[in-house]
Amino acid sequence: MTESSMTLDPRAYRNTIGLFATGVTVVTTEVNGEVHGMTANAVASLSLDPMLLLVSVGKKAHMAGLLQTTPTFTVNILRADQESLSTYFAGGWKQPEPPPFQLVRWEGQPQMGSTRLEDALAAIACVKYEILEGGDHWIVIGRVVALHQGAPPHSPILFYGGRYYQLDVTKEHPAPPRRDL
Ligand code: FAD
Repeated sequence: MTESSMTLDPRAYRNTIGLFATGVTVVTTEVNGEVHGMTANAVASLSLDPMLLLVSVGKKAHMAGLLQTTPTFTVNILRADQESLSTYFAGGWKQPEPPPFQLVRWEGQPQMGSTRLEDALAAIACVKYEILEGGDHWIVIGRVVALHQGAPPHSPILFYGGRYYQLDVTKEHPAPPRRDL
């Protein structure tokens, strides 16, 4: 096995940070009655008290402009078999018809002008909390206002090295609990 140090440029950075495996989400929001979705893996839990999450959204993305105006958005976590939705909402779908998906309203959340993707692994509804500048991206922080977990099995799609993967749940070990919580 050979190790290598990379030249410091954006491509090398992308390839290197791409070794950090993540799940994949589709961020949805609604503006003037129209729902828009965007695939995002730069999503992180930020705080438990208050409950906050962040999404990093490229400034050139259509979603970036929408998130400046909308008060709410939803982070939909994709299942292992929802690769087509990830590709579609990233603008990479080559077939004439979109893959099948359904957008549904949040139950019991009349104040939420936001929909979620039906049959996603999970969904987290947010009210916009703050938007910070982060280079060529916006760091969009949402305050969590509703949670939804889809039916088991809870098997996520993974994104690693620019490719999709599925989780091998037979190789599993306990991780230590957080001592500060
Ligand atoms: P658009 O290109 O405008 O839309 C994407 C596609 O979704 C279009 O085909 C559009 O027609 C369709 N669409 C949207 N809403 C609907 C709807 N309601 N009904 C039907 N079709 C609809 N970019 C980031 O900024 N941050 C990230 O964290 C990030 N992570 C990514 C992770 C992965 C795995 C991938 C594949 C891409 C990621 N991207 C990320 C890139 C991002 O998804 C694309 O650049 C995206 O196209 C930019 O968003 P947009 O709002 O401009 O979408």
